[in-house]
Amino acid sequence: PSATIGVTGLAVMGRNLARNLARNGHTVALHNRTHARTESLVAEHGDEGTFVPSERLEDFVASIEQPRAIIVMVKAGAPTDAVIDELVPLLDEGDIIVDCGNAHYADTRRREQQLSDKGIHFVGCGVSGGEEGALNGPSIMPGGSRHAWDRLGPIFRSIAAEVDGEPCCVHVGPDGAGHFVKMVHNGIEYADMQLIAEAYDLLREGLGATPAEIADIFRTWNEGDLESFLIEITAVVLAQEDADTGTPFVDVVVDQAEQKGTGRWTVQSALDLGVPITGIAEATFARALSSHAEQRGPARDAFGTETGELDASDRDEYIENVRLALYASKVVAYAQGFDQIKAGSVEYDWDVDPGAMAMIWRGGCIIRARFLDRIHDAYTDDPDLPSLLVAPYFADAVRNGLDAWRQVVSQASLAGIPVPAFASSLSYFDGLRRERLPAALIQGLRDNFGAHTYRRIDRDGMFHIEWAGDALQHDA
Ligand code: NDP
Repeated sequence: PSATIGVTGLAVMGRNLARNLARNGHTVALHNRTHARTESLVAEHGDEGTFVPSERLEDFVASIEQPRAIIVMVKAGAPTDAVIDELVPLLDEGDIIVDCGNAHYADTRRREQQLSDKGIHFVGCGVSGGEEGALNGPSIMPGGSRHAWDRLGPIFRSIAAEVDGEPCCVHVGPDGAGHFVKMVHNGIEYADMQLIAEAYDLLREGLGATPAEIADIFRTWNEGDLESFLIEITAVVLAQEDADTGTPFVDVVVDQAEQKGTGRWTVQSALDLGVPITGIAEATFARALSSHAEQRGPARDAFGTETGELDASDRDEYIENVRLALYASKVVAYAQGFDQIKAGSVEYDWDVDPGAMAMIWRGGCIIRARFLDRIHDAYTDDPDLPSLLVAPYFADAVRNGLDAWRQVVSQASLAGIPVPAFASSLSYFDGLRRERLPAALIQGLRDNFGAHTYRRIDRDGMFHIEWAGDALQHDA
């Protein structure tokens, strides 16, 4: 056996990951269900490094050094299980299967459990950065055992993106931790994009500016606190002209956003964990709303599409207010995402270091951004930080943007322009800092209709009032 690592599943992601490995000096065993893919990879890129192609899975497995490390990069779901089932009889104790596909962390936990009973190490590994990242340096989020990390760590760190000389890859934690963190990463990506979209809408509506002019604003924003890959490509997409019509590209695109499901997974998990990730949830629902054409049409017919005026008489001030609102809302979305990572880590006993996650998201992945350094610093300064919002740097950013944030959200509501992510982030912020929440009334109602009991502010214990309605309920 001569290969240091194997890759099975050579569609676009597996192919690029294998090339990245080979380019970085690793000898890579190759396999794909349909052998033609393996052949075309070797034919087109065989000169980029050392590949050991096999047509049969048995030969592929035999070509890898023990303990074997095998990356599975096939369609998520049943195909991943099918490939694992084929591999297992061919493996020895101590061998490692790495699922780099977009698996749900619960599936990863199940697979890890099943394989660990057989002495095989299963690593669920999040890979972000799409095709381009897989080839040139992704952000890599591996879960799984220490044993597996010892074998994989040096290899993965050699192919990951690098920022300030630091590879964007650390061991996230046991079993499903890597896929969980990747899932939350994708959820944050949803929130980031929704916030950017709302900012664009407000700029366009308020300023009457063209997409190309708004591209310039985003380009300027990308030189400050907001500097990030998504802001950068927003400028590119807004500046794009449609070749057929000569109109702005964004205006010829159907306004219905799609989703592959990781945002939904993030929200479902947050509901289970009881973590209010309102930014990510609003972003996920906003995509869903956009795609309900059968409701949008009748609603337009019933209510009309007019919007009111946004006061942008001071152009620079208006732009700055939108920027500050975007930044404050973004801080909220990240604070919520990190809360979810912390809650998942406690629930599943993963001991995830949130600051380290911020570090490995600085490069390679879609949400790479300057301010992740600040998140890393915040968790390094205080590992028990109750919320990112109260870390000194972010608290200042929010305080500084608060008036603008309120202006933008209230103007948008008055004008009838939807800003679900901006508005819910602001409400979340106000909810956290409110002296007393009306949740007290909800407890009262619950005690009334369901004898759910309530706690008092002045005494310990659980209390219940014999409401007049109790007798009725007992009769019913
Ligand atoms: P696809 O998800 O399109 O999967 C195609 C690959 O799966 C092919 O190699 C195919 O083999 C193989 N496959 C499907 N069913 C089976 C089966 N039953 N047994 C054996 N092999 C099977 O490929 P991608 O490269 O787009 O993605 C791979 C994984 O990476 C997915 O889990 C995806 O979610 C994840 N991912 C993708 C990203 C992206 O940007 N595309 C980004 C990050 C993660 P064959 O050639 O024989 O059909």
